[in-house]
Amino acid sequence: MGFLQGKRALITGIASERSIASGIAEAMHREGAELAFTYQNDKLKSRVEKAAAEYGSDIVLPLDVSDDAQIAACFEQLGQRWNDGFDILVHAIAFAPREAIAGQFLDGLTRENFALSHDISAYSLAALAKAARPAMQGRKGAVLTLSYLGAERALQNYNVMGVAKASLEATVRYLALNLGAEGIRVNAISAGPIKTLAASGIAGFRKILGHVEANAPLRRTVTIEDVGNVGAFLCSDLAAGVTGEVTYVDAGYNIVGMTGLGEE
Ligand code: NAD
Repeated sequence: MGFLQGKRALITGIASERSIASGIAEAMHREGAELAFTYQNDKLKSRVEKAAAEYGSDIVLPLDVSDDAQIAACFEQLGQRWNDGFDILVHAIAFAPREAIAGQFLDGLTRENFALSHDISAYSLAALAKAARPAMQGRKGAVLTLSYLGAERALQNYNVMGVAKASLEATVRYLALNLGAEGIRVNAISAGPIKTLAASGIAGFRKILGHVEANAPLRRTVTIEDVGNVGAFLCSDLAAGVTGEVTYVDAGYNIVGMTGLGEE
């Protein structure tokens, strides 16, 4: 029996088979969870429907997190299918305009870019948790989001997205404190770089992968399976004592200060 047997999970953020959300869905399905999915727009609908079918799910709902009405409608429709609630919310959503995640931080910075990145990448976690809250009562619920090292360190080209990820990680802690009394846990995985659609928007992404391969303790990058497995664990009762945390799944890259000095 899988360690998510009897759990229901709503998974956002699938845009392709390479999406981190796809790795999380795979692991959660393998561990016995029942899944529902959202898609951002009509272009992605059939792709998400196909993924859902592979996991035996026909719950596929539209959700653009920039639209309050769509957030409300999504949870209303989900309630019609899972009328006694659900256990897990996976938030795997981020966006920053391309010109804001290339070159110097200030060059790509505008009030609009800053606000949009924070709205889609950080506020949306709180908005979805708020909308999901009534359906997660009394079920030992878990919320999971995805962050990146740029939240804590200044990384070339990551720019405003790093600032939004810092906001996301703080949001994880405030949500954890707020929802803990209701038995709902809130955690983030800070994933190492993985080639996905969103990641390919970051300037120099190929070089980032090479740098991690050369310098991470495990001398490799991580996969969506690596992230999916830890995500499934964090959302399961095996992690019942863990909330408000940012867990690194990055082949150890974040712990390294200096390498490559050669022999003395
Ligand atoms: P991806 O492109 O596969 O997924 C990003 C998802 O965000 C897409 O499904 C897209 O539809 C969704 N999205 C964007 N704007 C949206 C909106 N307005 N409403 C609803 N959905 C919207 O890329 P990914 O790398 O799997 O990204 C998933 C998460 O993982 C993101 O938060 C990303 O920042 C994070 N992350 C990625 C990496 C990496 O290197 N790939 C590393 C660390 C963290």
